[in-house]
Formats: sequence, structure tokens, C-alpha cells
Amino acid sequence: MSEIFYTSQSRLRFDINRLTDMGVKRAYVTPFDTNNEVLSKPEIILSNLEKLAAKAELSLKKKLEVFPFFITINHPEGNYQLPNRYRMQKNIDGSPRPAFICFRDKTRQQEMIAFAKKAAGLGFNRLMFDDDLRDAFCYCDEHITGFAGFKGKSRSQIEHILSSILDNPEYENLRQKWYEYKYQGMINYARQIEQAVHSINPKCRIGICTSAKRCQDFSGRNPADWLKVFSTEDAPAFTRLCGECYDDDIRHICQSTGWSQYMNDCYPENTEKMLEVTSVPAVSYRSSGSVMFETDLVIAATAQKTIHWCWPEEFERTGLCDAVIESKNHVLKISEEIKTKPQSPLCIYIDSNLGSYTPINISVPYGATDDPINAYNIISLLGLPVIIRPAIPENQPAIICSSYISRKMIANIDEYIFNGGVTVLDSRAAECYRIYGGQVAFNISGSFSLNRYEILSDGSRCDIIADCPSDSISYIETNEDLKYKWRSFNVDGKEAGCTAAIFALGKGKLIIFGYNLSRTKQVLLCSQWRNRVLDILSFANIDFSVYWKGPVAVQCFYYDKKTILANYNASIVAGEIKTRFGQTHSLSLKPYELKIVKMK
Ligand SMILES: [Zn+2]
Repeated sequence: MSEIFYTSQSRLRFDINRLTDMGVKRAYVTPFDTNNEVLSKPEIILSNLEKLAAKAELSLKKKLEVFPFFITINHPEGNYQLPNRYRMQKNIDGSPRPAFICFRDKTRQQEMIAFAKKAAGLGFNRLMFDDDLRDAFCYCDEHITGFAGFKGKSRSQIEHILSSILDNPEYENLRQKWYEYKYQGMINYARQIEQAVHSINPKCRIGICTSAKRCQDFSGRNPADWLKVFSTEDAPAFTRLCGECYDDDIRHICQSTGWSQYMNDCYPENTEKMLEVTSVPAVSYRSSGSVMFETDLVIAATAQKTIHWCWPEEFERTGLCDAVIESKNHVLKISEEIKTKPQSPLCIYIDSNLGSYTPINISVPYGATDDPINAYNIISLLGLPVIIRPAIPENQPAIICSSYISRKMIANIDEYIFNGGVTVLDSRAAECYRIYGGQVAFNISGSFSLNRYEILSDGSRCDIIADCPSDSISYIETNEDLKYKWRSFNVDGKEAGCTAAIFALGKGKLIIFGYNLSRTKQVLLCSQWRNRVLDILSFANIDFSVYWKGPVAVQCFYYDKKTILANYNASIVAGEIKTRFGQTHSLSLKPYELKIVKMK
């Protein structure tokens, strides 16, 4: 049996032979061809579903399974216009979001239910919804007045409640209720879809695409709970994971390995999951090399074997179809080598439902200023193996939290430290830790500018702090006599504040960074920062089994007796794998090469 399985996201005009040549075995197909046909009149979509059913029959003769794929609130690429039968979304300030239909719009909901019903009636045994089946960013009048907690409050009061860090218990409660209200609305809608489908065809399996993490959070939903709503014993629901990479930017390719492994772990082990590898020319340009590089990487990061290509019709414009065909044996070889998920002594811990703890900010993509994936990207691209999970794994030596964290996470963190774990918090996570009742006492304040250099715990000097953006540095204050700390000095040469400290709690340790890893952007992507991370973790008795020592932008995945190195540089790099026992293994990596190294 083949170790990999290719599925695709396609358009009604798909070429059967093209897909089978690519090795695609199962295609999820929209009942239209272009983005500006998404909101065509329902009778057109219904009739296109019949055409799709006929084409599915033809495809099956060529061993290609074909199922319908639906888009809910619009795909705003290309030239489009929202028909006026729908209610448009609104921002929190009341301004329109002309690209999207309000998720609670009854007209659209009834249409979507009718499409699903029709698909089930046509005998399809699967159907799938894109990740825009979510209620993340609409603050239209109906949304707001439907929630009792906001009664009598102005839009600016509501914005204040949703956008500030929670040091007010009344607001914390209101925010939780707001996201529960949104999730309840989603469940009511989802149940109608599920029942409409299964009352006609109880065996029809429903697929749900995982949204970007922030869109999950701002919909008030936990991915696993949401999937369950569409599942029955006869027809377990399945999911497409979320990579969030649309271009050749190495940080986006890297974050795809992070979000893919994170979302993979948000769902139960036995869930049918597809890895998302995407290329949408209307969003941004991607080269075929970066698409194939990402493919290797997400397999290495998750040990999943189903690759979902979205969208193959656009692939033809960029030659990606040929790249998929040419690389098939290579991808197969990689996937045969990866039997287990990678490991690391260091895990990024992010709860699977953080909506009420993440302040909204509509002026930035996905509505939040801080994002823990930047911490993942920095550590990964320094060549230090790191994993990323929705819960603290058993026997995990160390965890790190970045960005906004919840009251529940902090209780878990303190218990974990108390029993011997080591936790690293960046400055934003540390701020939350102090607000939500973390047991270790210290103050953290910021942000501070004019940092010139730091004196590290061993007395050495490091200048990289001078390049960090103004909003990224905070100082830690404590009465404790710290055995390990970093001290920042300002441009006048005066000692300005403490930028890293280690505290003890129970049997474990709490490490605080004065750095907000979300806001430092790419500045910490340098070998000095790698040495500093290794040094501070080593002081807390955390050592990596293996790591990469050489130029940065090389990612290192560690498995039992095997290491994978991935070179994100457009140049050859030479360096070495270091092991905990002092062994070294010298090697060089070609541009975008993924190399498997067997360890003794
Ligand atoms: Zn709305």
C-alpha cells in the first residue's frame, strides 16, 4: 500500500486526467469555477451540483473519487460583489466589511443547508465545507443585539471590553459569554446542516476545514468539539488541517510546520486528517519549489500521509501540476522515513480555545497583534527542535508560552512547574501570568525603548537588543536575589532593567523573558540568540538531544535515532549536528534541501 495519499481542492471545470496524472485519488470540487461565482443564485449552484454528480461518475471510472466542496461567507479574491439578498458583515466600529456575508445571515444559512441536502440527495458519500464556515469577525447590529450581555452598551464600550487585556473580572466574564453565544449560534446552524445531510444519506461523511488559529479562537470554538458536531457513528467527520502559508516567505513556510502539527494534535488520533498545501495566485505568488519544500516539511512535522493540494486548477497556471508529478517519488521516500511525530524537550503550549483571552485588534490580519507562532518560527529557524501542542504533553521537560495565555493555562503551568517542569514565558505571556493569578511573584512592565546592549549571566555583552522594535522589550522586577539574569543598559550606558530571570517554584523553574517574541519579528533569528536560549535552558537543566549548529534558517526535527534538517536558505550552508553527549556530525545542505540523518 502506498504510504502517501493525494487529495485535491478543485473547481467544476477540473480535468480528470490531469488530476489522475498528479496522483490525486480524491477531489473535493466547488460547484462553480471562479471566486466571483461563489455567491451565484442558488438555482445555478443546485444545477451545477447535478453536473458535478455526472462528472463524478465519469471520474470514478478513472479511479478518482469526486465530492462537493462548499464556501460559506465568500472568497474575496478577484472582482466580486456581495448580492444584496445577504447581510454584509460589520467591523466593531460599525464600518462595513464588504467582502463577507454575516455568518448568522438566515438567507445564506438556508441556501447552504439546501446545497448540502441536494448533495446528499445526489448520492455523494462525502461533502466538505471550506474553513470560512466560522463566525469570527462580524459585529453587525444583529450580532450585537442578539447578545444580552451587550445590552445598553455602545460600540466603543463593546470594543473596549473585547480589546483590552483582562484585568477586570466583569469583562472577563462578558467575553467568555460573548464567545459562548457565538459558538452556540454556530452549533445551531451546524446541527441543521448535519441533520439535513444525514436524514437523506446517513453514510455521507462531512468534512470541515480547520481555520487559522485566531479564526478558531474568535469563533469561540475548540476544533475537536466543532468536528464532533458533524460526526455520527456511521459517518465520522473528517478535517483538513491548516498551514497558513500562501507565499514563499520562509516564516510562512515554517509556520505551516507549526500550525499543521498543532492542529493535528487538536483532533483525536483516529480522526481522518489532510495536510493543507496551498497555492492561490489571486492571494500571492508562490514558486513550485516552495510548495514542494513545504510538502516535505509538513510530513516531517506531523507524520501524516494525506496531502491535500489546494487548488490544482490554479496549479496549472504556475506549473505546479508538473512539480507534483515530478516529485511524487521523492515525497513518497520522505513519508516512508517518517513513522512518528518529532520530539523535543521544548514544547510551545497554546490552549485550543483562547478567544476570550485574546484582545481583538481589527487593524491587523486575523484580528490580534500578538501571535505565538512567531516564537515557534524563531526557535525552529535557529535549528533547535521544538514541538507545539494544545496541552502540556506527559513527561515534557520544558514548555514555552508566548502571546496571550488564559487563566486555565496558568493554573496548568503552575501545577506543571510545581511538579518539576520548566516553563518559559515571554513578556506578554508573563504579563497575563501576573494578572490571572500565577503563583510566582514578580512585576513586569513595558515597553521600553533605547536599549543599547545587555550583559548576560556569564558577564558577556550582547548587542542584539538594540535592533528589537520599540514595543518588544519589557523589564522584570523582583526582590529576589536572582542567580541567573540578563541586564539591559540604555544608550547612556546606564543599567535600565532586567530582561531575563529564572525563578524557582516547587520542584521546577519559571523562566521569564523581557522580550515579547511576537513583536521582535525576525531580529532574534541569529546565532547569538540561539546561544542565549541554549544557555538559559541549560541553567534550568534542559538540554536538547540534538540541535543544529551553523547558519540560521535551518530547521531541525528530531526523532528517535533520526534527525531531519531542512535548509530554508537560498544558498548552500555548512554546519554540524550537536548531540547532548558531545558528538558532532558535520554536513552541508543544498538550498531548500531536506536531509535525513540517521543517528547512532
Ligand atoms: Zn453579523
